[in-house]
Amino acid sequence: MIERTLVLIKPDGVYRSLIGKVISDFEEAGLKIVALKLVKPTKEVALNHYPADENWYNSLWEKTKKSFEEQGKQFAETPQQTGDRVRSYLVNYIVDQPVVAMVVEGNEAIANVRKIVGATSPSKADPSTIRGKFSTDSYDLADSQQRAVRNIVHASDSKETAEREIKTWFKDEEIVEYKRADEDILY
Ligand code: GDP
Ligand code: MG
Repeated sequence: MIERTLVLIKPDGVYRSLIGKVISDFEEAGLKIVALKLVKPTKEVALNHYPADENWYNSLWEKTKKSFEEQGKQFAETPQQTGDRVRSYLVNYIVDQPVVAMVVEGNEAIANVRKIVGATSPSKADPSTIRGKFSTDSYDLADSQQRAVRNIVHASDSKETAEREIKTWFKDEEIVEYKRADEDILY
């Protein structure tokens, strides 16, 4: 089914001049960019984009805990502590920094974009993914420097999140409908 999802190129991707390469990866897979802008987000937008949501805190905590335990390290934080800590790293990271926001449309766009983006920790991400090919950052290195993992892109993780995140960054009239020249052969 045709879906829309929100992608951000985070400040590390912008500062490293990876905007074109990231967009190309989505376009080459047959996904369509239907909205696009380069902005310095306000604190309000950043806080709305990363809400203190219980489900997100739990999934974030589980991934981080698993990664620490795989390395034989203890992980003593509660989901609330990990969530609050990472959320504040993320908000501080993007506020007033250059971020490219886009809406990407296509068949199963939410899952396909996450597949192209790769695993959260670049050191674990497959080298054919955006995070795996452009970074080697990891949870423990980022935590030791009290900052968010620098993994180039954000991508919505579900239909509900995609809807909320698209509304956070774009007005309806900023989303443009058009047909790609190769659409008839793609689908
Ligand atoms: P994503 O959906 O793959 O981006 O991952 P999450 O939604 O779980 O986390 C959001 C973002 O927070 C990630 O993209 C990372 O930039 C950052 N992050 C996640 N977990 C950690 C962590 O344990 N430590 C640090 N420092 N940053 C993290
Ligand atoms: Mg996420």
